[in-house]
Amino acid sequence: MKFNKKKINKIKILDENFREILFKKKENKCFCCGSQSNLTIGHLITRKVYAVRWDFDNVEIQCRSCNFLHEYRPEIFFYYYIKRYGFKKFENLYKKSKMKIVNRKEFIEEKIKEFSKLKSEDKI
Ligand SMILES: [Zn+2]
Repeated sequence: MKFNKKKINKIKILDENFREILFKKKENKCFCCGSQSNLTIGHLITRKVYAVRWDFDNVEIQCRSCNFLHEYRPEIFFYYYIKRYGFKKFENLYKKSKMKIVNRKEFIEEKIKEFSKLKSEDKI
């Protein structure tokens, strides 16, 4: 129980750092419809897949409506993604999403380090 609580906190920290970096890194408008209000983060491949949950290639800024729609009409986001970046990038992302994480704890630790480095270097 204690371990799980700790793990959840780390995931929360990671999500927050990822979000912060993303909003600095990407254009602050919806990737699909161009709206500039109610912006959130949209995962092309579900965030349930840890291998690509914190991958910059798997996320775009989306408005809440488009983000919500993704659940029912995923092809819209897929369409804009492939149109913008090409099929090769999508294919690479798909392959990455299939990678098995051997040590989840280590994977999370590595990501935390990676993001705090990014933030401290201000390379975003
Ligand atoms: Zn939108």
